[in-house]
Amino acid sequence: MTAQKPVRTRIAPSPTGDPHVGTAYIALFNMCFSRAHGGKFILRIEDTDQTRSTPESEQAILDSLRWLGLDWDEGPDVGGDYGPYRQSERMHLYADYAEQLLAEGKAFKCYRTPEELTVLRDGRREAGNSTALKPSDLILPADEVARREQAGDPCVIRMMVPEEEGSCAVDDLLRGTIELDWGMVDAQILIKSDGMPTYHLANVVDDHLMDITHVLRGEEWINSAPKHKLLYEYFGWDMPVLCHLPLLRNPDKSKLSKRKNPTSIMYYERMGFLPEALLNYLGRMGWSMPDESEKFTLGDMIMNFDIQRVSLGGPIFDVEKLSWLNGMWIRENHTDEELADRLQEWAFNRKTLLSILPHARQRMETLSDFAPLASFLVSGTLPLTEDSFADLKGEREDTVKALQFALWRLEAQRHWERDAVFNDLKTIADALEVKMKDFLAPFFIAVCGSAASFSIFDAMILLGPDMTRARLRQAIDILGGVSKKGMKKLEKAYDALPD
Ligand code: GLU
Repeated sequence: MTAQKPVRTRIAPSPTGDPHVGTAYIALFNMCFSRAHGGKFILRIEDTDQTRSTPESEQAILDSLRWLGLDWDEGPDVGGDYGPYRQSERMHLYADYAEQLLAEGKAFKCYRTPEELTVLRDGRREAGNSTALKPSDLILPADEVARREQAGDPCVIRMMVPEEEGSCAVDDLLRGTIELDWGMVDAQILIKSDGMPTYHLANVVDDHLMDITHVLRGEEWINSAPKHKLLYEYFGWDMPVLCHLPLLRNPDKSKLSKRKNPTSIMYYERMGFLPEALLNYLGRMGWSMPDESEKFTLGDMIMNFDIQRVSLGGPIFDVEKLSWLNGMWIRENHTDEELADRLQEWAFNRKTLLSILPHARQRMETLSDFAPLASFLVSGTLPLTEDSFADLKGEREDTVKALQFALWRLEAQRHWERDAVFNDLKTIADALEVKMKDFLAPFFIAVCGSAASFSIFDAMILLGPDMTRARLRQAIDILGGVSKKGMKKLEKAYDALPD
């Protein structure tokens, strides 16, 4: 009998945006699984998509996961024997593996142009086939390959995949054997024309080189499993055990999305949720303690962890339930002394005061003026109603439009700085041909709770992107929201705006 390899699990986030609660959820289960088996838990940054990855996002992911109390044994910030743990620092590895597959006929160079790919896909669709492009669709005659190579045309490296027939059996720890139709599996690009590896190649190579034994990841990756399985076979490597966890869902059962629920971990921190409560709630997503208790610590979860207790029905991430649980943690686990410490740590501290005072002091005659001026900065959502917006000039529809356009613009804003936020709003005001002063009026109410606040831009910077966007979303809802049809119209108008 061969000795069991020590368990090694990993979380492999791509640093392309705000740290998502879904990432924390997957990290939690990977960490519990490895701890329960006396193994190691690794954090690897998958930043091969250089156009979308940012160092700020990576830092925010690491900070948020640490804030939650998650702890990895190896990673870009703590090092380890299998480093580097950032794929952008491992680039030299991937090309060799792709070359090996090329040499063995398990991959091929593809010089097809985007236009040709469209024609090929259309052809497949018309013939009643899936649009997954196969080697037989893509491979050009040798003389044409030579011609394009000579001309220096861009090329990618794609993996060979079976043509139409049959299915690929993938074993999953929770789902048993899953059969996936080869017909749907395309000749995946492994190396892009700029020489960068795709997720699929880098992920498989790294999981192998890092001795990962179990891959616990979201169910959205199930369809990638046949490609990964094939790559492991091509390389002659053992495949880690796969386990696809259920996706978190909005209360209406749709996939958890920021349109319907705040998804950034930083929002929950900013709202004053306790990390132990959020972690506890994430632990309840599809999993339960043997005694079904609602409230438990990370230590309790690790001690009782059994992956087979994960149920596959889509777990619902419901902020109201989370608030209820958070309230229990606040009331049952803290003395007043301890709660005072938590509050101080959270926002009632010198650092926060110093960040607010430069903006508030001009309006202060007494120290007691400070609290009303600053309360919106330490509040969660504001106690607003339709009436709060009643004095605004202009049609409600136009106000909603302005708020929605700003929200979209700010959702895409990666640099939360005064000038950038100002430019975002100014561009929209100009495009809508509204004077900046009138344009900003509803923003004061939505974000600061009243028209008599200090600069809206300073306020947005202090509040941060998550809380600002949450308040814009709240205002849109209070004003009646946008119907599905209305949303389509707005999206079209928004797309026509200048950059
Ligand atoms: N980089 C992928 C992500 O962002 C990792 C998926 C996986 O765990 O294989 O989710």
